[in-house]
Amino acid sequence: MKSAEIIAIGSELLGASRVDTNSLWLTEKLGDIGVEVQLKTVVGDDKARLEEAVADAVKRADVIITTGGLGPTEDDITRTCTANAVGRELAYHDELEANLRERFRAWGREMPEINKRQAYVIAGADILDNPHGSAVGMLLEIGEKRVINLPGPPRENQPMFTNYVLPRLRELVGDVFVVRREMKIVGMGESAVDEIAAPIYTAFEGVQTSILFNKTEVELQIAVRRDSKAEAEAIADDLTAKLSAAFGIAMFTTSGETMEAVVGRLLSERGETVAFAESCTGGLVSRRITEVPGSSEYFLEGLVAYSYPAKVRMLGVRQETLNEFGAVSAECAKEMAEGAVRVSGATHAVSITGIAGPGGGTEDKPVGTVYFAYAGPMGTRAIKLFLPGDRYLIRWRSSQAALDLLRRSLLRRGQ
Ligand code: ATP
Ligand code: MG
Repeated sequence: MKSAEIIAIGSELLGASRVDTNSLWLTEKLGDIGVEVQLKTVVGDDKARLEEAVADAVKRADVIITTGGLGPTEDDITRTCTANAVGRELAYHDELEANLRERFRAWGREMPEINKRQAYVIAGADILDNPHGSAVGMLLEIGEKRVINLPGPPRENQPMFTNYVLPRLRELVGDVFVVRREMKIVGMGESAVDEIAAPIYTAFEGVQTSILFNKTEVELQIAVRRDSKAEAEAIADDLTAKLSAAFGIAMFTTSGETMEAVVGRLLSERGETVAFAESCTGGLVSRRITEVPGSSEYFLEGLVAYSYPAKVRMLGVRQETLNEFGAVSAECAKEMAEGAVRVSGATHAVSITGIAGPGGGTEDKPVGTVYFAYAGPMGTRAIKLFLPGDRYLIRWRSSQAALDLLRRSLLRRGQ
């Protein structure tokens, strides 16, 4: 497999004001054709450092891509440094100067003399046209290695990469197809997920797997590499089906969907609606469900009933329930969910009431104690969870558990 290195050039990328996103995009595109990025570097506008970075990269990798620093100003040093690093001269191209003059004329301006710098190209390099800017790119073949200079702005380098670089790299690596799948699992930790998944995915060759924990869910990503697209797809389908069977209902997507999108799809398939009664999540569940385009089809309302009087007035929770069991209780959660169905007319409702902290915890109800209830055609039922973390995480995990309770209720009913 061919290896690649990416060098992002520009002092602005070292600070917090601008982030190098070019390498992220390029890494993904290179991965799709089976070229693995093994190292990336951010170099400021410093000639010695850049020259060294390019020279080192050429020693190690098959494909070296730089982005940025191809402009006309003094701090644009990519051309010179790359040429020095690979021991080549810069060659002046009259036709590039003529093109530049023409571009400026078309904008109704005279070309500043410093732009002449952009007519220099590393001797022997192929020129990569840039319809979106003044800096052309370069592609240099050194034996089996490829050194490529792309301009900095994504809107310039992305089409350049797709149109000119990708076909040339495909020639180099031959037909390699990478098919990816993203599965997500809720209610389990990373190591528990790997315990179930590892015996399955290790039986497949040429499959790269990564397991990432993300706030409230575990992402299980697979990348299948084959020399035929159909074969890669078939293997990805087979592995996905096996993993999906092993995780059952805990796996909520095999196509990278968010929890809120999955819940939305299930509701819309059934032509049913939902309302939420939220206490400690303060509207977070409603916010998440409305982040999905088209949610007006199934989301009727979200009630944020924070205080005792609000729970009584908005949802009809009985004062006696609050006095006897408190707001953080299965009884209150059930009355909140039933109240939400009643006032909204939705098919289903889910309620959330708990202690997000840092204060407010007691011995029998410590911070992180959260009750959820579902009310609807499946009857009314409450669950109690103990969610670890700080206030931010407890609220986030509560929102996930509420959506998951709805998802599981919808799926169970469908069976
Ligand atoms: P130009 O001819 O437009 O000056 P250039 O090749 O000299 O092209 P730079 O001057 O280095 O490019 O960068 C121009 C802009 O491109 C930056 O201000 C930034 O917005 C964007 N850019 C540069 N490098 C990156 C990067 N690695 N990731 C994302 N954006 C970048
Ligand atoms: Mg520039």
